[in-house]
Amino acid sequence: MTGIDDLPPLRDVIRSHGLDARKGLGQHFLLDLNLTSRIARLAGDLTRCDVLEVGPGPGGLTRGLLASGARRVVAVEKDSRCLAVLAEIQAVSDGRLEVVEGDALTFDDVGSLARGARVVANLPYNVGTPLLFRWLDRLDHFASLTLMFQREVAERIVARPGDKAYGRLAVMCGWAADCHIVMDLPARAFTPPPKVASAVVHLTPRTEKRGQADPATLSRVVAAAFNQRRKMLRQSLKSLGGDPLAMLATADIDPTRRAETLAIEEFAALARAYEADAA
Ligand code: SAM
Repeated sequence: MTGIDDLPPLRDVIRSHGLDARKGLGQHFLLDLNLTSRIARLAGDLTRCDVLEVGPGPGGLTRGLLASGARRVVAVEKDSRCLAVLAEIQAVSDGRLEVVEGDALTFDDVGSLARGARVVANLPYNVGTPLLFRWLDRLDHFASLTLMFQREVAERIVARPGDKAYGRLAVMCGWAADCHIVMDLPARAFTPPPKVASAVVHLTPRTEKRGQADPATLSRVVAAAFNQRRKMLRQSLKSLGGDPLAMLATADIDPTRRAETLAIEEFAALARAYEADAA
């Protein structure tokens, strides 16, 4: 019986199906199956949950996920040229792989996946951050997100107060999830190689957020604070339209501090103060 391990090498598959990489779709493929298996393992136990893969492309990571024993993989791919290759993987997947042709940005992942699903993806660089924000909004549906980003984006996700990379992305991710860089990949690991290095970030939803806050309010306050990151908060928060000094006093935060020095819990306190102010 043929299985995942009997499929031809990815380089041959790409050649035989004429899958020349398209820049507009962020296509940088991983052809080393040792690497894709490592990424699949970093995602945790896949044997008892649904897995969402965005952008399977020629299927290197898809093979890794299936070989790791994933119970069910739903793979959403925008490029119809990849469907024939993915059908070949599907044929040896024991019914565990479902391929959806479409845009991950509009895919109904919550409706299509059982609660406790894990997301594992080598994300196309142009939609990586919007997809992450979308998952953050429905994080209670997921057990984890294991995502490949450009290294610079990965650093912005895991940054701490005082780091140069600390900003809206770090606060919104760190408020809702524990976030760690779990693997670094040089540009040469991809075909074709991108201009910059990449990294895999593993995000595990927190049972308790870092401070109580309404997510939309928190997002507004954080965006205002970092929009003028070099300015003191008493100035940068003016764009919210309320009284920044009163809001900062309620949150017990010195008005001369800058956004980049605030802990995530302090942003949550600011969001609560903003809501109390507006009530
Ligand atoms: N998973 C493969 C790998 O690791 O070799 C391919 C990763 S490649 C960086 C990104 C993939 O996402 C491509 O296959 C591309 O066609 C697909 N893609 C790009 N935009 C997409 C979107 N909006 N929705 C779903 N797939 C998308």
